[in-house]
Amino acid sequence: MEINLNIEPVSSWGVNATKPLMISGPCSAETEEQVITTAKDLSALGIQIFRAGIWKPRTRPNQFEGVGSVGLKWMKTVKAETGMLTATEVANVKHVYEALKMGIDVLWIGARTSANPFAVQEIADALNGVDIPILVKNPINPDLDLWIGAIERIAGAGITKLAAIHRGFSSFEKSNFRNAPQWQITIELRKRMRNLPIICDPSHIAGASDLVFEVAQKAMDLGQDGLIIESHPNPRVALSDGKQQLTPKQVGELMKNIQIRPEKTDNKDFTESLEELRSQIDMIDDEILDTIQRRMAVVSQIGKTKKTNNVQILQTDRWIQIIESAKKKGDSKGLSGEFIEKLFKALHQESINIQTKILNS
Ligand code: PEP
Ligand code: MN
Repeated sequence: MEINLNIEPVSSWGVNATKPLMISGPCSAETEEQVITTAKDLSALGIQIFRAGIWKPRTRPNQFEGVGSVGLKWMKTVKAETGMLTATEVANVKHVYEALKMGIDVLWIGARTSANPFAVQEIADALNGVDIPILVKNPINPDLDLWIGAIERIAGAGITKLAAIHRGFSSFEKSNFRNAPQWQITIELRKRMRNLPIICDPSHIAGASDLVFEVAQKAMDLGQDGLIIESHPNPRVALSDGKQQLTPKQVGELMKNIQIRPEKTDNKDFTESLEELRSQIDMIDDEILDTIQRRMAVVSQIGKTKKTNNVQILQTDRWIQIIESAKKKGDSKGLSGEFIEKLFKALHQESINIQTKILNS
């Protein structure tokens, strides 16, 4: 079901809202000089919103936890000297009051905070009557309802300048990404909240500067509205997230190289060939569904013989053999192991569900 909140477009934020809306600046404000020089370089690229973390939520203690309130004065100088809007993360009511008092223009709620409804509600209550953009990062766990819930709490305080930030999701499993993106979650978010701007944070998704561009390009190809990118004059000596920060010059290169493609075109040849290909896809999808239905009918028969013979559902050796053989066959057909594994795990889980019903009937 679609959720209809009163959300204004990015053009209401007081910036020129051409796509992508760019937000950039250091992970953390470290010194006044670092903040001002970074802001000037980014402003020269046409970037209108400057980000810097003032209070930093760190995973382990005894790391740099941000400069604190003194950094807000530096943000004020950035605004006065460049005309940029300034943005920072707030994680509690004290942060909200201090940031507002010092004229910060845009606030974002970090991933660890948006996972906590109590914290989000307290922030929302502190924002009552305030009319500035509030950006809500996805919670660290891939729970779309929790993300939407955080956005609804902020909207409930009367905030209409809202956006979501996709910064990827934590997982125990190792991957190329620091926080694996879940593009399907953002696609579902767009479906549920059609008027909500979605901003991608390729820095925290990638965790490595050389992966930032490809993540940013993917977000643009999925029709997302903006990018929030960490930038530091000398990432190697940054006090936080050095591996993923780009120099302002690299941010400029990214902006030059990124392709912004429209969602639709009126070109007749294109629309015709797309329609033809889509009808092929529809037929293939029907075949897939018929095949799955046949597979599940066999699964039911297996469930019945297991019940008659009183054996358990899971046969680990058989499952290992199915997945190994599917991956081998998939590989020879150019299908990635990751995809095959996900697909077969889903099929297997459904088979287990069907057999569970039969065994318990
Ligand atoms: C950040 O933007 O610097 C930050 C801490 O992000 P996240 O909440 O996504 O980890
Ligand atoms: Mn960071």
